Amino acid sequence: MKAAFLTGLRDIEIRDAPEPQLTGPRDVLVRIDAVGVCGSDVHYYKMGRIGEAVVNSPTVMGHECAGTVQQVGAEVRGVQPGQRVAIDPLVACGHCDQCRAGRPHTCRNQRFLGQPGELSGSLAEFLVLPQECCYPVPETMTAGQAALVEPLSIGVHAQRLSQLEAGATLAILGSGPIGLCVLLACHAAADCKAYMTDLVPERVKMAVQLGAVWSGNPRQGDVVKTILEAEPSGVDLVFECAGQQETLEQAVELLKPGGTLLIVGIPEVDEISFPVHMLRRKELAIKNVRRQNHCVAPAIQLISSGRISVDPLMTHHFPLEETQAAFDLVSGYQDGVIKAVIQVGESGSKPDA
Ligand SMILES: [Zn+2]
Ligand SMILES: [Zn+2]
Repeated sequence: MKAAFLTGLRDIEIRDAPEPQLTGPRDVLVRIDAVGVCGSDVHYYKMGRIGEAVVNSPTVMGHECAGTVQQVGAEVRGVQPGQRVAIDPLVACGHCDQCRAGRPHTCRNQRFLGQPGELSGSLAEFLVLPQECCYPVPETMTAGQAALVEPLSIGVHAQRLSQLEAGATLAILGSGPIGLCVLLACHAAADCKAYMTDLVPERVKMAVQLGAVWSGNPRQGDVVKTILEAEPSGVDLVFECAGQQETLEQAVELLKPGGTLLIVGIPEVDEISFPVHMLRRKELAIKNVRRQNHCVAPAIQLISSGRISVDPLMTHHFPLEETQAAFDLVSGYQDGVIKAVIQVGESGSKPDA
């Protein structure tokens, strides 16, 4: 099969790789149809690491994916060959204290698709996964939509952790795919008022298109001042989706006393700091958001029922052969890209390029 290997910094090569085989009775062989390029993939592409997770190239990245079941092990129930599935890229052990406490996303022995040293990623024609990772999607759902179930599930998880209530005011700092998924999830969950920011003009525009009450660019004006003019007592919730020191500081300024900061973004640095006295005086709560927990099925339901449309997020499509071009586009924030989707296999390959 063909797979896109990260062979060095900013270098992706399409190479032949052995097709993965079913090894256990609960394994499922999936033909990958679509893969979304995630900010975390781009971190590895540009920097070769996220914190302690260091790429040992060549390696296959990719975890926002959907496909079609090809073959199933003897004990697999609920999916059969031909079934289209959205994939939860996390394989939890099922035995540790976290798994037993209903927190597989913080499983102590977890393995994640496309994560260095864990599982080979989905930028490949085929993948073998345990059946727990395969969620059937309706025939009406496109492969791209099914691949976007993963980032949307993170938005749903962040929204659930925030305990968002109707009438809440919120700021979402960072309007990339995850920030926008948080917006969509919050709007679907409750009647709320969201202010958003981003440095990329197209993302600022998209935020309002998708329902933010206001969006602005911190390089073109004082966004904190503008939001606080509209909400003089501060906002109830801030979702930090940029992973920047600057946005964390803005969050602390924007929140009302007793408010909650949700850290969703992944910083490129190893340490961040807070204006600690303001944090303390306002008695702010800080919650970190790691991946998602039990939000894949709700995300599928939100998309298939039409309550959420993820289509506007999918601004660019590439065949597997052009994975590197997709990564360059996303890493350079070029051409107004929000989510680049790679079409893998027959469904996506161009006749000849
Ligand atoms: Zn991702
Ligand atoms: Zn576990």
